Amino acid sequence: MTTDSETARCELCGEPMPAGEEMFKFHGYSGNCPKPPLPKEPAVDMLAEMKSAAGYLRNAQIDLSIGATKATAIRTIEGGLRRLEAAISKAEAQS
Ligand SMILES: [Zn+2]
Repeated sequence: MTTDSETARCELCGEPMPAGEEMFKFHGYSGNCPKPPLPKEPAVDMLAEMKSAAGYLRNAQIDLSIGATKATAIRTIEGGLRRLEAAISKAEAQS
């Protein structure tokens, strides 16, 4: 008995590979993919993420210049860092 996780699946359409073709990465040997290709993760919009992170940092700078507490500025900086680091790890995973 094979579990679903052991089933060889086509990397293009995600359907199980036919018997005897499990060693192939995708359909094409005995016919085309029976299903349309799986949707791809949209590429991370680095420019948008950088702009957003810059916005957080600018806000933190304003926070400090108008005399807001350090804790407030730190929270704002953390927001920008989280945004930027999430975008970086997503981009690294896609490359
Ligand atoms: Zn396929």
